[in-house]
Amino acid sequence: MLFEFDNSYARELEGFYVPMEGAKAPSPSMLSFNGKLAVELGLDAALLDSPEGARIFSGSEVPLGAHPLAMAYAGHQFGGFSPQLGDGRALLLGELIDTNGQRRDLHLKGSGRTPFSRGGDGKAVVGPVLREYLIGEAMHALGVPTTRALAAVATGEDVMREGPQPGAVLARIASSHLRVGTFQFFAARGETDKVKQLADYAIARHYPELASTSAPYLGLLRAVMAAQAKLIAKWMGLGFVHGVMNTDNMTISGETIDYGPCAFIDAHNPKAVFSSIDQFGRYAYMSQPAIANWNLARLAECLLGLINEDEDEALRIATNTLAEFMPTYEAEWLAVMRAKLGLSTSDTGDKALIEKLLSAMFTGRADFTQTFRSLATGGDARALFTAEPEGFDNWQAAYEKRLFSEPLSAQERSAKMVVGNPVYIPRNHLVEEALSAAAEGDMVPFRTLLNVLENPFKARTGYERYAAPAPADFGPYRTFCGT
Ligand code: AMP
Ligand code: MG
Repeated sequence: MLFEFDNSYARELEGFYVPMEGAKAPSPSMLSFNGKLAVELGLDAALLDSPEGARIFSGSEVPLGAHPLAMAYAGHQFGGFSPQLGDGRALLLGELIDTNGQRRDLHLKGSGRTPFSRGGDGKAVVGPVLREYLIGEAMHALGVPTTRALAAVATGEDVMREGPQPGAVLARIASSHLRVGTFQFFAARGETDKVKQLADYAIARHYPELASTSAPYLGLLRAVMAAQAKLIAKWMGLGFVHGVMNTDNMTISGETIDYGPCAFIDAHNPKAVFSSIDQFGRYAYMSQPAIANWNLARLAECLLGLINEDEDEALRIATNTLAEFMPTYEAEWLAVMRAKLGLSTSDTGDKALIEKLLSAMFTGRADFTQTFRSLATGGDARALFTAEPEGFDNWQAAYEKRLFSEPLSAQERSAKMVVGNPVYIPRNHLVEEALSAAAEGDMVPFRTLLNVLENPFKARTGYERYAAPAPADFGPYRTFCGT
């Protein structure tokens, strides 16, 4: 048997999905297969990196033991509520228990129409599929909780977008696909029994230690808040802008999901927005913690009836609990940023010190990733400040003063900093270059970039261009929703 599925979602949550099979792809062929991840999942990589694997991961063939289904969910998109979204072009194929004993979803994105497709064609295109593959794998290597890419398969069929585009399916692995929006779907229909059933499932799957506590549902809210605070702090430490932090794109597990119009900042800009559809900058870099907080308030609303029978009391408890998010986030962010600067102790002035650097980077138009890497390796960070380098000088004087109270030697500090400040991130121009070549059938640039991104903290000779910012003629970067 190719897979040993154990499909708890299908088994335990009837009424939360529609059983559904994928569309038949005319000629599925493997674009990229993640052999290492396959092994981690306990799968036979050699057997699956094959024409049969391409049929399975395109959704054309249902493997033995799978229970393909489209999940129901709702969501706030750019602040407006859609009561019915759901897997409109995706299927949960089944769940696997990996070699660490962890339950993981095997999910297909781009596998055809479902009852949730509304006007959409249920398909995905090679470019965005490979983009999600690259950025997801890069995030994993950077130490960020994330869904993973197991395989990208070309379907051999054109999909109509602005013009005809080659179709593809992404086989994605996640610790689950439970989203804030999954809770919203049932809460909005007043189906409180189902909200409870879902909460119990989420607790059993992600936070089992809560099951035996006196307030498990409040505990669930707190646990998701903590996981999201940790996650967003990591994004912020890398200059990552998700781009579509809708409530249907926020997981209960705390993994990053749905790499659509996301991108990494180059020259630092707190207001960075890359998505062409985010006209008002709702999901700008600096806004991400506040948006996470807003999304968590939507989750809290779904759980109110489970938190306390008395409505006013439930509201009071939820409000007080949500007020813990920003302080929790800030503590996580401080930990991330202190580590980036090699600070092993805490000082009350650290927050101001970090903000001073970020503000000097903004006025100095310094490259986000290179600045921190340069500080880690003792390179010429000042040279990266192309405007008003005095801002950096002032900061550096304050930083050096702060280092007097540090127990680590400069060498020990640098050793810690180089493993926390990457050389390589999926830079927009490199991603675009790899995707353009792939669209022409040349997968070599994709493979090289993926290989570089899988080891982001170790500088390699001959790979200098992968560490450099975009050439000036690349222009301001805009991403389009991954459709
Ligand atoms: P996303 O922007 O990928 O997070 O998707 C938001 C919602 O739109 C989800 O319900 C998707 O299933 C749906 N959707 C996106 N693209 C398509 C498509 N091509 N066909 C059908 N549904 C889609
Ligand atoms: Mg989504």
